[in-house]
Amino acid sequence: MVLHQMHPQHKCDKCSKMYFRVQDLKEHVNTAHAGQEFPCGQCAYVGKSARALKHHGLLHDPPKLSCTKCSERFRWRSQLAAHSCK
Ligand SMILES: [Zn+2]
Ligand SMILES: [Zn+2]
Ligand SMILES: [Zn+2]
Repeated sequence: MVLHQMHPQHKCDKCSKMYFRVQDLKEHVNTAHAGQEFPCGQCAYVGKSARALKHHGLLHDPPKLSCTKCSERFRWRSQLAAHSCK
């Protein structure tokens, strides 16, 4: 009787876990490594999507708009418009 050596053949390239079946490896990747990560270059934030990171990046952007009367600064034109100072 031949004893088959049971070594898992399918290795996860993200955490080097080994799986016997491709199916299991795929499932592992889908659950354990779901989605890509988009780390912010300026802080510890890690976004789940490029869009989330881009939105986050606004925080590091100084507001460009400023009120001419009180020099308060705003990120959005609508905020500036809503801002009423006398
Ligand atoms: Zn893995
Ligand atoms: Zn950041
Ligand atoms: Zn103002």
